[in-house]
Amino acid sequence: MSSFSRSIRPLITHHCRHHRPLSPVILKRFLGIPPQFLLDDYIPRCQLLSSVDAAKKRSLAYYHLRNCNLCPRRCGVDRYRETGVCLIGAETVKVNVIAPHRGEEPCIQGYHGSGSVFFSGCNLRCVFCQNHDIAHQRNGFDLTPEELAEWYIKLQQVGNVHNINLVTPEHVVPQVALSILTARDMGLKIPIIYNTSSFDSLESLALMDGLVDIYLPDFKVWKSSTSRRLLKADDYAETARESIKEMHRQVGDLSFTSDGIAKKGVLLRHLVMPGKEDEGREIMRWLAENVSQDLYVHIMEQYHPDAHVGKTKRKRATRHAEGEEGGEPEVRYAEINRAVRDEELSSVKDAAVAAGLWRFCEVNEQGGFHL
Ligand code: SF4
Repeated sequence: MSSFSRSIRPLITHHCRHHRPLSPVILKRFLGIPPQFLLDDYIPRCQLLSSVDAAKKRSLAYYHLRNCNLCPRRCGVDRYRETGVCLIGAETVKVNVIAPHRGEEPCIQGYHGSGSVFFSGCNLRCVFCQNHDIAHQRNGFDLTPEELAEWYIKLQQVGNVHNINLVTPEHVVPQVALSILTARDMGLKIPIIYNTSSFDSLESLALMDGLVDIYLPDFKVWKSSTSRRLLKADDYAETARESIKEMHRQVGDLSFTSDGIAKKGVLLRHLVMPGKEDEGREIMRWLAENVSQDLYVHIMEQYHPDAHVGKTKRKRATRHAEGEEGGEPEVRYAEINRAVRDEELSSVKDAAVAAGLWRFCEVNEQGGFHL
């Protein structure tokens, strides 16, 4: 049994000669959930919205589609007539994959998986994108908000998943809002996760307020020189700081029910980048000082060169192939064309602890996961 299985399945059955078996007892203390982050029960926020507020959100979603300034690209286009930087119109969204997914954090994927919806397209252009085929190439099928809502219900009823996990939704927020409102009326009863690069606007987060239960923001890089070169956005860090503060204001720190499944709050991710550990340290310090020392943080180590990184520069490649240049051909973004070193990872983790953060997604001393 994996350490995760041990941590989320702490069930014991009492059985002795004189008694019939009792119901399984969940050992809350085994899971080690601090009481302030333990929920007795949970009702998704969308089910608590009044019908008046739900109607207001619907109107606001249509208003934004007519003049889209919803993400920091601020294209100002009528998406019923033309597309902006994200290349996605108004009537439908493009979806690459919808399925129960087990590649998420233990408290998100749980026993049965997270009901993931991977949207095609993106409002960033990360040169190292780890989902390049989905985010940059816009492969997939078109779905209306109503069809999306039907998928959420299928994931809930057939997949028995713990949540609906909207991956890269920043550029389709109005359609996503409409889909959640429809699913609410169809009986959605599991939490909604907004899984984002943090390149969001305060307007789009206002539209999501009351619809999202868990924000899963990624804070990628700190310096604008780095975001300009690697994300193709000058103002990424400033936007991310504003967005993450707003997400935390809406849903607070990550909280769980007694089975160890996350139900509400912010789970922040940071993918440590090769040679950029100084930026990771800055991010950890800023989070502790400006968001919350109780923030649940996942410091990720799985960076690998992908997308444009490590590809041969075109002119050089041609000259090299024609024998004009000797040696190895020059590659693009050579500075991040390698895996992350252990000491880079440790320096970000040490900075996080020194800043006062303490809730990390990692294996604990007992072999389970910190909650
Ligand atoms: S969501 Fe798309 S159309 Fe709207 S501002 Fe962003 S990139 Fe432009």
